[in-house]
Amino acid sequence: MIIRKNTFGMGDRFAHQGHAQLKAVTSARELGLDIHPVWNKSNREHLLVGTKPDDLRAEADAATAAAGWTDAYYVDADHIGIKTVDWFLAGSDFYTLDVADFTGKPAAAEDIDAFAADMARYHGDLTIPGIAAAVRIDDATIRAAAGKFLFAMQEAGRIYRYVAEKKGADHFITEVSVDETDAPQGPVELLLILAMIAREGIPAQTIAPKFTGRFNKGVDYVGDIAAFEREFDEDLCVIAYAIREFGLPASLKLSVHSGSDKFSLYPIINRLIKKHGAGLHVKTAGTTWLEEVIGLAESGGDGLALAKDIYAGAYPLATDLIAPYAPVVDIDIPSLPSPDEVAGWSAEKFAATLRHDQSHPDYNVQFRQFIHVSFKIAAKMGDRYTDALKRFEPVISRNVTHNLLERHIKPIFG
Ligand SMILES: [Zn+2]
Repeated sequence: MIIRKNTFGMGDRFAHQGHAQLKAVTSARELGLDIHPVWNKSNREHLLVGTKPDDLRAEADAATAAAGWTDAYYVDADHIGIKTVDWFLAGSDFYTLDVADFTGKPAAAEDIDAFAADMARYHGDLTIPGIAAAVRIDDATIRAAAGKFLFAMQEAGRIYRYVAEKKGADHFITEVSVDETDAPQGPVELLLILAMIAREGIPAQTIAPKFTGRFNKGVDYVGDIAAFEREFDEDLCVIAYAIREFGLPASLKLSVHSGSDKFSLYPIINRLIKKHGAGLHVKTAGTTWLEEVIGLAESGGDGLALAKDIYAGAYPLATDLIAPYAPVVDIDIPSLPSPDEVAGWSAEKFAATLRHDQSHPDYNVQFRQFIHVSFKIAAKMGDRYTDALKRFEPVISRNVTHNLLERHIKPIFG
């Protein structure tokens, strides 16, 4: 199974926006953009919301059938490991092997020796086409990377072989993710990680490194944009080189996690994938949940009241709600508006405070990140929340589609 060149991942916490999400993709295709949808959901998210992997498959199949979609689409078991993969085996055809927890753990000394011996042919100044300065590689560089990543890539191999045994190797796409690690991986580390992946026999078609800078949930990039541009450019060169050098699938491409709302990076990503003729996978998720809340607020009346209740319910639990996301949000709790203040907001004020329009005077990056992590409150509301999604569907779906199409797909792939 070979992944299409341009793929766009869309998470959907409450499984009601499949149609609105697909509409963003079909509208883009009408404009000539050849992109394919991927519905992604992690084990963590299923547990927090109370959904199961088969629900996501059902949603993707229903949305595509209703739209008459006949081209490729995928269902991504996002961030899974050997302990969590089983309930994803039936419904998924894309597996994101998350081995971040295994980085830094020591591989067997003989395995490190074997890897170092195998890579000795790259010692010296390595020229990677497209990267201006030669890359210096020696035994120490190789052993340092092996010390950090070899055990993790062996674990990825174990998960891959388990899924392949259960599903058949031709029936799914494999992604390897190390984005949820402490430190970003530079191009040399990426090269050596890809060598490890190839030696494990993993036919990875997407790779999710941790990029430099902060990829906070649902908000714009925070970091050195020029450094990101250099790194992304070099990563694309490394991938093209690794495909030829290590015999990895020709379809191998970068996967950008927490990829929603990184508006300041999209022009760079757009330019660089065109320059390299490279494919790309981008994952988004919580941005769609935020559009649900915006749509509820904008609907006024009971919809606005529900949006305010979510905030009022979340506010006293801020510390606990933020904790699981601490590495990927920057929320200053004291600067959040009080629920009393929010209770007095109009529909327009609530929507404008939350919507990711950085030029709007009401936009509040703290408020937006906090609502992002507050979906557990809506999950606890059960039918009250999902009934509201149905009742206010026209306004919500308009926001969901517009956000993915205009703010994401067009700037990234257009
Ligand atoms: Zn990720």
